[in-house]
Amino acid sequence: MKPIFVTQPFLPPLEEFTELLKQIWDNKILTNSGPFHKEFEQALADFLGVRYISLFSNGTLALITALQTLKITGEVITTPFSFVATTHALWWNGIKPVFVDVEADFCNLDADKIEAAITPQTTAIMPVHVYGNPCQVDKIQKIADAYGLKVIYDACHAFGVQINGNSLLNFGDLSVLSFHATKVFNTIEGGAIICHDEKTKTRIDFLKNFGYDGELRVVAPGINAKMNEVQSAFGLLQLKYVEHAIEKRKIICELYKELLCDVKGLTYQNQLSGVKHNYPYFPVFIDEKTFGMSRDELNELMKSHQFFGRRYFYPLISQFPTYKGLASSNPANLPVAELKTKQVFCLPIYPDLELSDVRRICELIKSVGK
Ligand SMILES: *Cc1c(COP(=O)(O)O)cnc(C)c1O
Repeated sequence: MKPIFVTQPFLPPLEEFTELLKQIWDNKILTNSGPFHKEFEQALADFLGVRYISLFSNGTLALITALQTLKITGEVITTPFSFVATTHALWWNGIKPVFVDVEADFCNLDADKIEAAITPQTTAIMPVHVYGNPCQVDKIQKIADAYGLKVIYDACHAFGVQINGNSLLNFGDLSVLSFHATKVFNTIEGGAIICHDEKTKTRIDFLKNFGYDGELRVVAPGINAKMNEVQSAFGLLQLKYVEHAIEKRKIICELYKELLCDVKGLTYQNQLSGVKHNYPYFPVFIDEKTFGMSRDELNELMKSHQFFGRRYFYPLISQFPTYKGLASSNPANLPVAELKTKQVFCLPIYPDLELSDVRRICELIKSVGK
């Protein structure tokens, strides 16, 4: 049997890509906001339903630049249940992460626990829309407004997600996307910052190009985080297919739910009504006692059958050596995250995953405890 991995990147038809590459070879513009970059940026803003978007070479540099854009300093409240880049972006800015626990339904930052973690040094909140499920955006904004804090969303999982027809990316001061190969929408590597006014977009665009404002003026110690023309052309093509790709993910997600709904000790997340989802992952949560096997044992069993899921997110960011010493990393401060990280297992999901493979995976899971 061929191995089935947790994900597989979506690729556009090669012939269509080579057509675009020919144009790049003809015009000899490879980077620095060329024609494909301009076209892709506009097309993406239209597709996502946002006013201003700035393209980046990857999501991590976009996160680092987002913090620079708003001159965030001191302490930032964030979640331990994310990809490590969320917190690394703070570290690279010399900011102290303060971990707050997640809520049990979606593993997103628990808005009810934010206030207790605010100190005079707190300048911002950086929540993550984990697995594409929206954070409690209204509650978070209320707290931010009351305490004068900025909100930067790590929206790397949330490409295309909408709440009641409005893009999730329109909440907070800034949102950051990743277009890494493993994401719902990819430009091989890539990322973006979404902002809500032209002035901020101008600052972001300076910062991602060494701080250059025109030919001679440097207005800030910027970085080099530009998306190039090959990535932009690739992205422009991907955009044509992404809705179809999300539709295929949806079918897989629904089949998993149907087949696994009566497995004791296994739960999955159900989307809130009014949310247009993007189905980036299919996490299940294993309660060892009722299921009859631990999450790690299930992982081993699946591997022995050539199914490679992923324990994502595990370990918690707060458990990595860089962050473990922080007071807020104490497991007693993060009971829900500590529980979820031990239970979570992401099953394979990608547009080209065969439904017969989904069935085989579910049969194996259902054989446990029988
Ligand atoms: C993928 C991801 C990132 C990092 O994005 P890159 O494009 O890989 O640098 C950051 N945060 C989260 C939640 C992610 O999933």
